[in-house]
Amino acid sequence: MILDKLHQAPEQADHPPRILAVDDEPRILESLQTLLQNNGYLVTTAQGGREGCRQLLRGTFDLVLLDLNMGDMDGHQVMEFIARKQIHTAIIVVSGETSFAAASKALRRGAHDYLRKPYDSDELLNTIEKTAQKILLEKAHLSMQERLKKSEELHRYIVNTSPDIVFMLDPQGRFTFLNNKVESILGYPKQALLGRMIHEIIDASDLKRASYVIEEQQSPRGEAAKIELRMKAHNEKHASRYFEVTLFPIENRGTHNLSGTLPIMGIYGTARDITERKEAEEFINFQAYHDLLTRLPNRTLFKDRLNLAIAQARRSKQMLAVMFLDLDRFKVVNDSLGHAMGDRLLQAVAMRLENCIRSCDTLSRFGGDEFTLLLPSINTPDDARTISKKLIKTLKDPFQLGNQEVFVGVSIGIALYPHGGDSVDQLIQNADLAMYHVKGRGKDGYQFFSESMNTHSSGNRLQMERDMRMALEKEEFKVYFQPLVASDNERIIGVEALVRWQHPERGLIYPAEFLPLAEETKLMTELNNWVLQAACREVKRWIDAGHEEIRLSVNFSPSQVEHPKFVQNLMDTLTKMQFPAKNLEIELTENVVMNDLENITRKLRQLSNAGVTIAIDDFGTGYSSLNYLRRLPIHTLKVDQSFVRDLNDSQEEACIVNAIVSMAHGLKLNIVAEGVESRNQLDYLKSLGCQEVQGYYFGHAEPANKIFEKIYSEKHSKVSLGH
Ligand code: C2E
Ligand code: CA
Ligand code: CA
Repeated sequence: MILDKLHQAPEQADHPPRILAVDDEPRILESLQTLLQNNGYLVTTAQGGREGCRQLLRGTFDLVLLDLNMGDMDGHQVMEFIARKQIHTAIIVVSGETSFAAASKALRRGAHDYLRKPYDSDELLNTIEKTAQKILLEKAHLSMQERLKKSEELHRYIVNTSPDIVFMLDPQGRFTFLNNKVESILGYPKQALLGRMIHEIIDASDLKRASYVIEEQQSPRGEAAKIELRMKAHNEKHASRYFEVTLFPIENRGTHNLSGTLPIMGIYGTARDITERKEAEEFINFQAYHDLLTRLPNRTLFKDRLNLAIAQARRSKQMLAVMFLDLDRFKVVNDSLGHAMGDRLLQAVAMRLENCIRSCDTLSRFGGDEFTLLLPSINTPDDARTISKKLIKTLKDPFQLGNQEVFVGVSIGIALYPHGGDSVDQLIQNADLAMYHVKGRGKDGYQFFSESMNTHSSGNRLQMERDMRMALEKEEFKVYFQPLVASDNERIIGVEALVRWQHPERGLIYPAEFLPLAEETKLMTELNNWVLQAACREVKRWIDAGHEEIRLSVNFSPSQVEHPKFVQNLMDTLTKMQFPAKNLEIELTENVVMNDLENITRKLRQLSNAGVTIAIDDFGTGYSSLNYLRRLPIHTLKVDQSFVRDLNDSQEEACIVNAIVSMAHGLKLNIVAEGVESRNQLDYLKSLGCQEVQGYYFGHAEPANKIFEKIYSEKHSKVSLGH
């Protein structure tokens, strides 16, 4: 509506001037009419002042030719009438009076000109013509002013209803003009900003860039510059927002510089609010590089950062570490408590992990319950080791989900640049592989990648998984037995069942190569059950043949022990095989026990009550404390082979073995030293009071019949295994 009004064109005078002649003498009126009409004017006559007033009310006249001396109502009264009624018309007074007073009175009242009677017709026409010109000029001027006013209103309207903030700056960067938008968008009263620097309302983070662009616009190039920046709000009621600011230099066209360019009077600018677009972009960007559940970087961003870190490490000849973390038992939580709880658990885990790392490290959610961690520069592998221990420890405490307490653990594989891979994919793949070794053995919570893990087969997991499934059906798996020996008389007191895969093409495959993968799939449970049954079936035969004391040690994987029906399944198998519980020892690693202390304790107690003995395998490599050992129904500690291996040349290892043995004695635990390969080692262990030993010195793991021959001949010929 307002626009309609603004668009209306001002009135135009497009007709000949209309004249009203007022006189009380009809003769004069007549001659005037003829004269003026002949000269192209539109003429109306009125005889006397009263008639004149009537006519003025009835029509519109550009000019009134008014006689002063009239009988009924004189010219002055008519002029008063015109003024009172605010009638717009020009007046030429005609009078027989010669006094200056009469003329000046008439002119003061608003008459445009004065003609003295008698006048000749030229004089009259001249005066009328002059006045008509004056009127026209006045009208044109008025109409021009009107148009200017309207045009200015239109511009003001456009500027103020513009969706953008419109402003002008002086050459120093101070606001000289602002439209109303700055009030509604940012909350600044317009007046408060005028005269202030634009820099004052630009967000600090964009100030440098903005200053540069504003500076640029001070030199005349006639080009617009665009910049995206954030502007601060006036108060808390408004938030700071993103703008796309366009700046144009305003050139002073009047003068030229010496160089011939135009000097700059200031800058004209518009600022378009692009906050919504920007936020959408930011969200999309965030989404593309982050995991929305944990808000951690995702796989893409991780790889990107790793790529940079590798380049950096290569230049500065430094080491970096990539860790692959996989939660233990996450699936159990997710399946039993539901996905919502699973999600909450992941968030809580992410938070705890994040608290263990520095700001320059990148922790990412790689997918599912897998996380990756990049330590961009480390000095020694020990740095990675320290962090790993920290990460493992931080997840040890139970998580409170609603009114449920849940336990999760984490398996960590570590690959170090450059030895553990020198590309993004290599490092991640190798850390992943190392992680599977942790999982498969339920050993340490963490392990470093080593070349030996990278067997030819590990590349093709799917194929391997298919092959393993087939192997189970075709009974390609075999149980081998390694003798356990009493250190004093060196006679076999038991065997440890160790699984092998008799591959039709590749020959004998060792567990290190296929157990990690089996653990990852459902195959592990099947395989474990099969091993237990096959081993029991075999040893049962020996027992039945008169070797009642033979102990069977079987390794149990983490997933097996964590199964809710672990105890029942095990007892069922023993019953089915008619295997005496007291002849069975199960081997668990420290971490299996530590991960879920309460549950495990309950299960182990049940087994122990049934007569099964329990051994902690690879003792000394984990992070268990003696405190919990005291509380657990444990019978045997198997000292990890790494300590025994280094006995010969390391004083430190000797101390550790010494400590473990004396501690075991204190706790009345049976102790087995693993990996005994030489007489020296045996003698030393014996001197420490270690009663049971196992290792290549007494024999490798072998098929059942080979071992049985040894047991049999030992018993009947009284020959021991020792050399
Ligand atoms: P482990 O329980 O620590 O088994 C001992 C490993 O050390 C065996 O390797 C054995 O062959 C090897 N070994 C024995 N004496 C010596 C020695 O004097 N020197 C050296 N260098 N090594 C010796 P193996 O059979 O390759 O088994 C590797 C691991 O695989 C086992 O470590 C165990 O954690 C796991 N494993 C083997 N069989 C089974 C199974 O049936 N079920 C489960 N869950 N895990 C198994
Ligand atoms: Ca073992
Ligand atoms: Ca072991």
